[in-house]
Amino acid sequence: MNPSTAATYQQIDKSVSESLEQILSTVKASELSETLPLFSAFNKVLAQAIISPINVPPHNNSAMDGYAFNGQSLDAEALKTPEGIRLKIIGETFAGHPFVPTEPLPTLVGVCIKITTGAVMPEGFDTVVPKENCSFNETMQSIVISDTKIKTGDNRRLCGEDLQKDLPALQKGQKLTPAALGLIASLGIAKVSVMRPLKVAYFSTGDEILSLGDLPRHGAVYDSNRYTVFGMLSQLGCEVIDLGCIPDQPEQLKAAYLQALAKADCIITSGGVSVGEADFTKTMMAELARNNSAKTPLGGVEFWRIAMRPGRPMAFGLLPQYTSNIDVDLDPSSDSDPHSPRMIPVFGLPGNPVAVMVTFMIFVKAALEKMQGAISNSSRLISAISSSAIRKKPGRTEYQRAFLSLKNQQNYVQLIGNQGSGVLSSMTSANCLVVLGPEQGNVQEGDWVQVMLLD
Ligand code: AMP
Ligand code: MG
Repeated sequence: MNPSTAATYQQIDKSVSESLEQILSTVKASELSETLPLFSAFNKVLAQAIISPINVPPHNNSAMDGYAFNGQSLDAEALKTPEGIRLKIIGETFAGHPFVPTEPLPTLVGVCIKITTGAVMPEGFDTVVPKENCSFNETMQSIVISDTKIKTGDNRRLCGEDLQKDLPALQKGQKLTPAALGLIASLGIAKVSVMRPLKVAYFSTGDEILSLGDLPRHGAVYDSNRYTVFGMLSQLGCEVIDLGCIPDQPEQLKAAYLQALAKADCIITSGGVSVGEADFTKTMMAELARNNSAKTPLGGVEFWRIAMRPGRPMAFGLLPQYTSNIDVDLDPSSDSDPHSPRMIPVFGLPGNPVAVMVTFMIFVKAALEKMQGAISNSSRLISAISSSAIRKKPGRTEYQRAFLSLKNQQNYVQLIGNQGSGVLSSMTSANCLVVLGPEQGNVQEGDWVQVMLLD
C-alpha cells in the first residue's frame, strides 16, 4: 500500500478473499533470525533450509527382532523341510553392537544371525525373519522359517531411506513441530537458525469489559478476547505484549496505541470497530496516521467492512512507528526525512468473542505467518456432507460452528449449538467451521460443504 493514501475508509463490504489478498500484499516478511538450541526452537519458523549432513539411518539395519539371513536361502532346495526353511544360527548382533565375524564366513546360504531391531545388518545379509514367524530349535541351534510369504529384503531398513546426505531435509519457513525437532535431532544437529518471534501487542476495548479479578458489575462482562487472542498468538509462536483492557475513552485509547506502536511488530485490538457512539477504533487509527509534523496521513484504515459472518466489522490498516520514542510529534525544523517510518499492521478485530476468533483465524493468522516467513498452513478446507439443512444468505461468507465425524469412510458435518457471534461455548465444543462462500444460498441435508478444521 502507498502509506500516503488517505486515512479514510471505504464504506463498502469487501469479500473475504479480496480482504485477505490486500492484507497479504500489505504485510512484509521479517528478516530477523536467531540461532537457538533445539529445545528452545519448538514452534519457531526455520530461517534456513536444513541440509542433511548424514544419511538417516546411517546403515542398513533390522526393522524387527528376529534372524537376519541372505535371501538366496529362500530358493535353496537343500534347506527345505516339511515345516519350512531351516537355517543354522551362527551368531548374534544387538542394536549398538555390530556383528564382526572372527574369520570370513564360509557360506551365506543356510545360515542366519540372531538380530534385534535397529542392529546393523551383518555384511552379506539382506533379509530378516521376525522371531514370531519362525520356530527355534535349541539343540540344533537352528530356526525353521514357517512364513511362506517372506521375500528377499523384508524387514530391513536401508541406509538413507529416511534422509539422504547433502539433500534438503526441511525447507526454510517450515514450522518446527515435534516431528521436525526430532528429524533435526536425527541429523545430529544441535542448533538451528529460526525467525525471531514477532512481538504482537494486544488490548481489549470497552467500558463494559472487566479484567479478571475485578468485581462483577451490573452490565459488565469479563474480558474473554484477551485470552483467546493470547492463546492463538501463542500457538503461532508470537511474543504477546498484553496491554490489558482500555475503556472507550479516546485519550486512553490513544495512549494504548502509542505504547503498542513503540514496541510491537503488529497490533491487535478488539471491540469498538463498528458504528456505535463509543466505537473509536477507526477514528483513532485515522488520527494516529495523521499524527506527524506534516499532518499528511501515513497509513490509516485500509478497510473495515468485510462481507462475512461472524466478523463483519474488522478494521485493517497500517500505522507509522517512529523508532526514537513514543512521542510521534516530529521536529518540524529538522530537514532530515523522518517520513519513512516503519509501518505497523493493525487489526481492529470486532468485539464479539467468536467474531474475534474467526477473523483472527482467517486474516491475522495468515498475515502473521507471512510476517514470520512461515510456509502457511492456514485455512485448508476439506469436503463433507452436511447432516442437516443450513440457512444461509448469499452475498457473504459464513463460518458456522460444527462437528465433523467419519461414518462409513465418509466425512459428515453437523452444526452444533448456538451460532451467535458472542457464544464461546459452541466454539469450545466445535471441531470445525463450515465455510459457506458468498455465492452459496441455503444448504439442504446431504449437500456437500467445505469445512475448515479447528486445530
Ligand atoms: P463492540 O464491538 O465493542 O460493540 O462489542 C461487541 C460485543 O462484544 C459487545 O457485546 C461487547 O460487550 C462484547 N465484547 C467486546 N469486547 C469483549 C471482550 N474483550 N470480551 C468479551 N466480550 C467482549
Ligand atoms: Mg465496545
